[in-house]
Amino acid sequence: MPTYEFRCKTCGSTFDVNRPLAESSAPASCPEGHDDTVKLLSMAGLAGKTTGGGQGGGGCCGGGCCG
Ligand SMILES: [Zn+2]
Repeated sequence: MPTYEFRCKTCGSTFDVNRPLAESSAPASCPEGHDDTVKLLSMAGLAGKTTGGGQGGGGCCGGGCCG
């Protein structure tokens, strides 16, 4: 199940949500209970490439900084 990262615009905290792809665009409440959140494009965009389960790298390659 993909993990989506959200950021709360009310308190500024970020949090991860595990949910099916079909619910990827559904709203999420922050741990503090605020509803004004935005979904960040973090792991969701890479989910299609990690079907082999090879997550756990340093995070440099894949972000574009390795050229
Ligand atoms: Zn909040």
